[in-house]
Amino acid sequence: MPAVTAPYKAPPFEPAHRVTGFGATVFAEFTALANERGAINLGQGFPNFAAPDFIKQAGQDAIAQDLNQYTRSGGHQELVEALAEFYGPLFGRTLNPMTEVVTTVGATEGIFASVQAVVNPGDEVIMMEPFYDSYPACAVMAGGTPVYVPLESPERTPGRTLTAADWKLDMDRLADAFSERTRMLIINTPHNPVGKMFSREELEQIADIVQRHSQSHQPVYVLCDEAYEWITYDGVEHVRMATLPGMWEHTITLGSSGKTFSVTGWKIGWAIAPPEIVHAILMAHQWIPFTISTPFQEAVATGFRVAREQGYFEWLGEMYQAKRDRLLGYLEAAGLSSCVPHGSYFILSDTSHLNVPPNPSEPRDVTVCRWLTGEIGVVAIPPSAFYSDNNRHLVADLARFTFCKTDETLDQAGERFQALTRKA
Ligand code: PMP
Ligand code: GLN
Repeated sequence: MPAVTAPYKAPPFEPAHRVTGFGATVFAEFTALANERGAINLGQGFPNFAAPDFIKQAGQDAIAQDLNQYTRSGGHQELVEALAEFYGPLFGRTLNPMTEVVTTVGATEGIFASVQAVVNPGDEVIMMEPFYDSYPACAVMAGGTPVYVPLESPERTPGRTLTAADWKLDMDRLADAFSERTRMLIINTPHNPVGKMFSREELEQIADIVQRHSQSHQPVYVLCDEAYEWITYDGVEHVRMATLPGMWEHTITLGSSGKTFSVTGWKIGWAIAPPEIVHAILMAHQWIPFTISTPFQEAVATGFRVAREQGYFEWLGEMYQAKRDRLLGYLEAAGLSSCVPHGSYFILSDTSHLNVPPNPSEPRDVTVCRWLTGEIGVVAIPPSAFYSDNNRHLVADLARFTFCKTDETLDQAGERFQALTRKA
């Protein structure tokens, strides 16, 4: 090795290939834009109202009790026990807290660790479009290949209100996406950003495809992202894939306390699956964060017990349904025809009538969302961020608005939207 020639000049840094294709997430970009412009942020999905007192108190108590050191890697004992007790009846089985539950850094790490645990390099991961933006990134970081199946978006017919159930999954198209390299299928229900809740019939049809394929090829595992499981409307039933016949063995179910208790900054999530799969997830998880926040896990355990006693989960859905209807009213009044979500806290609205100067260097929905920020002072998320390059055009005329905000924020946005009726 030759001696260093003075003055030493460090070579330019080249990032690892697995991250070179990644840019900042659409949420980081549009929240920064909202802050920079002082616009109302109906983009990123985080509540801007207070978390429930019982959960905040539980967090403070856990810290005061000095539960401030590392805890068990698979999950703080109190939390895995609370989760097993709470979810057992919902899954129709006795859940072993030590072997069938693992806690994660939000559902986000649940997705990453599950994909790391199941997907081999060269495997294919089927996901529906629109997808939550971390799914393809996680598939790629595991050396897998994302395979996209777009949901069929509904035709708008005058006089008929669209609902999330009008977004359909073409089962033949899904079946055609399976190949000998398929290893995982990701489902998100309730769905971000469509607000669709997959019906029992739809899940049964998906389960049938998975089971038929698994008989003749390498087995396929379903990653079921149920982060919004308690944020559901109009009495539409949340059906869990893991409860369908033969599907427990094929399914990893993910949950998020960020959504359930309105504490997105706590980042406590969990995965529930059969012991062999949980073990594999734990083997990945132990090398990612090793273990997650002890006091916040303790607090979420307390939160589940108190929430059940207080009827909190029913209240959460009702509270959000009123916010959904409030924002829908403002959007419709401003001429933004919207699709009524049955779950999650997002609304997709039609922007096709807005006369926005085109920018050929980016998808139309991105241009429209920037324009809304500048001209109206309200930030929305362009849903093309949830599509592959080939299918981005499918949502050129849509914008995603969130309603996990105070009524005052929604009212202010409603006032600002009025300017749209003058600009259209
Ligand atoms: N999945 C979906 C569909 C989401 O919208 C989110 C949103 N944050 C997550 C997973 C991540 O959840 P968490 O904040 O618990 O990491
Ligand atoms: N899940 C949230 C949303 O869809 C954002 C999460 C994030 O910022 N990564 O708005």
